[in-house]
Amino acid sequence: MTETLHAQAVQNRLLQWFDVHARTLPFRGVRDPYAIWVSEIMLQQTQVATVVPYYQRFMKRFPTVRTLAAAPLDVVLKLWQGLGYYSRARHLHKAAHMIVSQNDGAFPDTPEALMALPGIGRYTAGAIASIAFDRRVPVLDGNVMRVLARLYRCQDNPKTTAGQRRFWHLAETLVPKHRCGDFNQALMELGATVCTPKTPDCAHCPLQSLCQAYAHQEQDTLPRMPKAAATPHYTVAVGLVFKEGKLLIDKRKDNTMLGGLWELPGGKKQKHETLKQAMAREIAEETGLTVTVGKRLCIVRHAYSHFRITIHAYRCDWVSGTAKPLQSAAVKWVLPKDLKKYAFPAATIKIFDRLGLGSEYPFNL
Ligand code: SF4
Repeated sequence: MTETLHAQAVQNRLLQWFDVHARTLPFRGVRDPYAIWVSEIMLQQTQVATVVPYYQRFMKRFPTVRTLAAAPLDVVLKLWQGLGYYSRARHLHKAAHMIVSQNDGAFPDTPEALMALPGIGRYTAGAIASIAFDRRVPVLDGNVMRVLARLYRCQDNPKTTAGQRRFWHLAETLVPKHRCGDFNQALMELGATVCTPKTPDCAHCPLQSLCQAYAHQEQDTLPRMPKAAATPHYTVAVGLVFKEGKLLIDKRKDNTMLGGLWELPGGKKQKHETLKQAMAREIAEETGLTVTVGKRLCIVRHAYSHFRITIHAYRCDWVSGTAKPLQSAAVKWVLPKDLKKYAFPAATIKIFDRLGLGSEYPFNL
């Protein structure tokens, strides 16, 4: 079978399968580049089921690129709260500004112009260009890469530059002349629902008779992923610092992880110190305040993509000093009942939930 014939067979079978089996999703069948962009950014490293309610809320609040550009970043981050990877929200907001100010609100329609926007890489540019504008360009995300590795029995390590180049090339050779967006979505859908990382459902796969990994029964060992490095773990102390009934929160700098979100002051415990010593030191370094460190209120564990933390949250009381943003973008004293107005990272929300803070809950420590 020649490569062209093989590609045609893959295209035909996948498109027929997609027409029947595609899941109904709020961003499916949409051609609005703005809506596709929002959904694609949300779907990065996040499950579809998690994304759907966020997408619906986001589109209701910001139905157009102009409404997004006009909103304060704090409001965008608040709506993103819980979805993680907050740089995505910051980039969306910044790119919306650029589209409105530089392009009068018109969405770029080529991969090159799309990739000039913050937060849009080759994958997202390919998805928007093919789905919204029917451009004949490939997409390559984790799902597509897995399908291609198995279909072609490709032994390359997808984490290497050479592996990336090879998989992009394979994806490129498969994109059909027509229905490019549907085909790209079909590849992603197959990877998400049939050709899954563990126990792929080969019995119901439209590509089974074309699949080299299936022919050699290697579907469980492909793609050849490198062994994951051990995840570092850190012990962290954070303080619920009170002064006259108000609680101190600080805002992370924009250019840091979780930038733009609010959190409780605190940080990593150093080897030579106790948790309470770490607590007092971190608050002094971050805010300039002197506090008394009281009882430990709770312990919360949280995993990020590259490290894990165990957070010890302490009740602290202001003794002296004026709070200053020495290591953050801003500091603020807020009433516990007002915490819900601010966007916090998931780990901080866990602490608030454990203590009955941060929403309509009564405050009682
Ligand atoms: Fe994946 Fe199995 Fe289909 Fe091959 S036959 S593409 S391994 S689901």
